[in-house]
Amino acid sequence: MKLLRRRSSVKDAPQQPWKIRQDCLALICECAKDEYPHEFGGLLRVDTLDKHLISELVILPGTIAGDTHTLFQMHMRPLDFSIVGTVHSHPSRSPFPSQADLQFFQKYGRVHIIAASPYSFSSWRAYDARGGEMILEVV
Ligand code: ZN
Repeated sequence: MKLLRRRSSVKDAPQQPWKIRQDCLALICECAKDEYPHEFGGLLRVDTLDKHLISELVILPGTIAGDTHTLFQMHMRPLDFSIVGTVHSHPSRSPFPSQADLQFFQKYGRVHIIAASPYSFSSWRAYDARGGEMILEVV
């Protein structure tokens, strides 16, 4: 009985791991460097075949990059179910979400990347909609 209960537990259900293409991550780092000392923001699109592989960065028209915030014009986003989340940069060395970030994460998307200065492959982190840290494998 104990074994049956464990198997049916949602917590134990296997989850498909999320991945991000290396060239997509490199583009995110380059865009963040270009916008420094302002923030940079964009949307994350998955591959057409692998729905857990983030393969493309989408820049929304009218995205406002400030010193400490990015204002996404979410009404400008395409009606596109392959867009799974957002990315924005922090001009500081903190890759951790602010309160405003956490509120935004809850409203839209399943994967959110924060790229912190100096925008290298080791200065970013990914979060789920609740602000929990996620592991994204770079492929
Ligand atoms: Zn932020």
